[in-house]
Amino acid sequence: MPLVPVSVLLKDAAAEGYAVGAFNCNNMEIVQAIVTAAEAEKAPVILQASQGAIKYAGVDYIAAMVRAAARRARVPVALHLDHGTSFDQVVCCLVAGFTSVMIDGSHLPLEQNIALTRQVVSVARPVGASVEAELGRIGGVEDDIAVDEREAFFTDPGEARYFVEQTGVDSLAVAIGTAHGRYKGRPQLDFARLARIREQVSVPLVLHGASGVPDADLKEAIRLGVRKINIDTNIRESFVEAIRRRLAEDPREIDPRKILGPARDAAVETIREKMRVFGCSGKAKW
Ligand SMILES: [Zn+2]
Repeated sequence: MPLVPVSVLLKDAAAEGYAVGAFNCNNMEIVQAIVTAAEAEKAPVILQASQGAIKYAGVDYIAAMVRAAARRARVPVALHLDHGTSFDQVVCCLVAGFTSVMIDGSHLPLEQNIALTRQVVSVARPVGASVEAELGRIGGVEDDIAVDEREAFFTDPGEARYFVEQTGVDSLAVAIGTAHGRYKGRPQLDFARLARIREQVSVPLVLHGASGVPDADLKEAIRLGVRKINIDTNIRESFVEAIRRRLAEDPREIDPRKILGPARDAAVETIREKMRVFGCSGKAKW
């Protein structure tokens, strides 16, 4: 099957009240793990590439690997740019065949974020790709933002409405207390704020930094309108832990396939568990 736009998957998710998993990929084994998990769960799936992934593997390699995986897949697969940094990069990804892009102008003043996002929508829409933007700041767990300053970075519901109206984006990433990376304690999500954003904004909402968020909190976020959930750290953990286990069992192993194969299998299991929590298992339309 050819790659599908993320907006098509999120529309179905909104109609049926579940979230689609968006899993970060860096290499062939992780691409295969994500698509294998989606097929096993009969789930629609989004593979996404971050700045780090693009730097490591290159846009062309990622696009080619995901396209090859999608062509064989019996479930809908989308390819998304995670945290796009510039208009030029978005254009490169669209040319390479990405069916969805995020433009992250969240560090910019509101009007500049709107201008950048509008520019991206104007090139993505004619080629049938969808656009995700971010409002508020989703930091990293390493950012160490003081608790009383934390809310200053959260998405403002009124501003979210204005932003979506002005830009015409397909989906919006919200800052409600999640962070990228590995949490030190239990993350505190601001569900009241999420509900207020939902009242103001009709496009699907996106939750970043969801690795380490308890399942019950993820389900509550889905109930309140989150339709795309990003998972990266959980995949890294299971992939690398499997490599460590394998090398501990046999420190003399030199066949990369015998080291990375079990890591790929471990990632499949992690991804399948997430899909069941997100409610997207069994939702593939084809
Ligand atoms: Zn993110």
